[in-house]
Amino acid sequence: VDTFTAQQRSEIMRRVRSAGNRSTELSILGSLRGLGIRGWKVRPAHLPGTPDIFFPRSKTVVFLDGCFWHKCPKCFRLPSSNKTYWKSKIARNKKRDRKTSRVLRLLGFRVLRLWEHEIRQGTAIRRLLPLAVKNQSRRSRFQRPSISGRG
Ligand SMILES: [Zn+2]
Repeated sequence: VDTFTAQQRSEIMRRVRSAGNRSTELSILGSLRGLGIRGWKVRPAHLPGTPDIFFPRSKTVVFLDGCFWHKCPKCFRLPSSNKTYWKSKIARNKKRDRKTSRVLRLLGFRVLRLWEHEIRQGTAIRRLLPLAVKNQSRRSRFQRPSISGRG
């Protein structure tokens, strides 16, 4: 016998999933810091959809999408109970994601969405790095070692 109501179960799921999201978020932010990338902000409340990372100079926003909540084509599995509930909830999330990206692009932002599994596997930083470097300030660009090796 199920001792939780649908709402309670949903709340438990939400907590479990967001704990997972938090650790992936910390890992990508840790990678940026570790690489010495500066000039970004976390969750700017003034932007639509509150992106997870914001690079003001290159006008780029990054979303760290949980594979469950954002229906990753690779990882998403519908929970075995409350299928109807989850189906419509995830569909609503997906619709909101598309709308948010569209609005941000219309405002002139470059939008990058990274999957939770890409962060866990360490491939996300490869997609993020070129944009992060482009965003670097003039000063920190000068601090980078010369590629030609003559410097
Ligand atoms: Zn995934």
